[in-house]
Amino acid sequence: MEDLFDLADPFGPAKIVHIHRPSLNLKAVVVIDNTSCGVAIGGVRMAPDVSTDECFRLARAMTWKNAAAGLPHGGGKSVIFGDPRMPLDQKEQLIRAFADAIGDLTDYVPGPDMGTDELCMGWIKDEIGRAVGLPGAIGGIPLDKIGATGYGLAVCIDVAQSFIDLDLKGARVVVQGFGAVGKHTARFLAEKGAILVAASDTSGTLADPSGLDVGALIALKDAGGSLREHPNGKKLAADAILDIDCDIWIPAARPDVVRADNVGRLKTRLVAEGANIPCTPEAELALHKRGILVVPDFIANAGGVICAAVEYGGGTQRPAFESIDQRVRTNTQLVLEESRKTGEVPRRTALALAERRVRAAMQTRRWH
Ligand code: NAD
Repeated sequence: MEDLFDLADPFGPAKIVHIHRPSLNLKAVVVIDNTSCGVAIGGVRMAPDVSTDECFRLARAMTWKNAAAGLPHGGGKSVIFGDPRMPLDQKEQLIRAFADAIGDLTDYVPGPDMGTDELCMGWIKDEIGRAVGLPGAIGGIPLDKIGATGYGLAVCIDVAQSFIDLDLKGARVVVQGFGAVGKHTARFLAEKGAILVAASDTSGTLADPSGLDVGALIALKDAGGSLREHPNGKKLAADAILDIDCDIWIPAARPDVVRADNVGRLKTRLVAEGANIPCTPEAELALHKRGILVVPDFIANAGGVICAAVEYGGGTQRPAFESIDQRVRTNTQLVLEESRKTGEVPRRTALALAERRVRAAMQTRRWH
């Protein structure tokens, strides 16, 4: 990178902090992007190949996600260079040293992300008194266990059905990635009468047009099994999940899984993005042109961060679910109505909404 101010634009980033403790081999970056809406909340990612640029892009995504959800929080993110599978005592030392280094960055609240978990957040809280995504024993809400993001996705789909004249009762659902997000989305949708016709994990795709038993699949995954071990249904390659005929297709695994070269294979009416950036911009545009409704990630998968914000405010599980329902419902409705009026891709409409909220918040600030 030539100059850190290459990343600067009218929204931020407000601070980029590089942390280096040579004796511990601690190298980390914190980006606090925009705090006009409130103290920034964003995850701590640990991986060997992270970068300042990636940290900035993730922090900016949090600025939009938090604003789009209507949370009183700005966007931030941090990355720690390292293998998250290092011995636990070494990881604890690194995380605690990282926490110590961000102690005075009081406008940033760390949360879990790839390579960190609730135990790591517990260590950070112990060092500096602030973190979200904490263990239950110290006031955390176990958001992956209760399915906060999956619950929000089901609410979002509940709103979207009327925009495509779909009845959730009997609607055929496909879930790519049967992990924390995917399995709970399937569970909440099944409670609304939808039928899971296919699901995938790294072991492959499991399909049954007459419907899979969601409870049995969740039990299998929770016991450490993989979908291909399920006795019923057809076993296909992981990639075959793209070809299954359905009404609702839910990516809940990796980024960039739907691209210009494979988007034509999707046979669905609605894509609700559980994963972050699962579709490239070209693929989203192609789906839009085919009349397939795509609810963008930062609207559809905001349940997790809404839950974290409730935890930060001292709330418990029940208000967390209420807040997810209210925020995701309102914002999905707003975005889809506006996008129907303008004919724009929903992502563009959602971004404009988030930008309007951040700009309005910036007007209240002394320096913006
Ligand atoms: P997870 O690790 O619990 O689950 C991911 C699942 O995807 C696993 O079952 C894995 O086997 C499967 N998978 C991985 N690669 C695959 C492939 N190529 N084909 C099919 N399946 C594959 O992760 P998660 O927490 O459920 O997160 C899933 C996605 O949602 C990520 O992109 C994450 O960034 C995003 N997200 C998660 C949350 C949250 O609350 N956990 C919130 C917002 C966004």
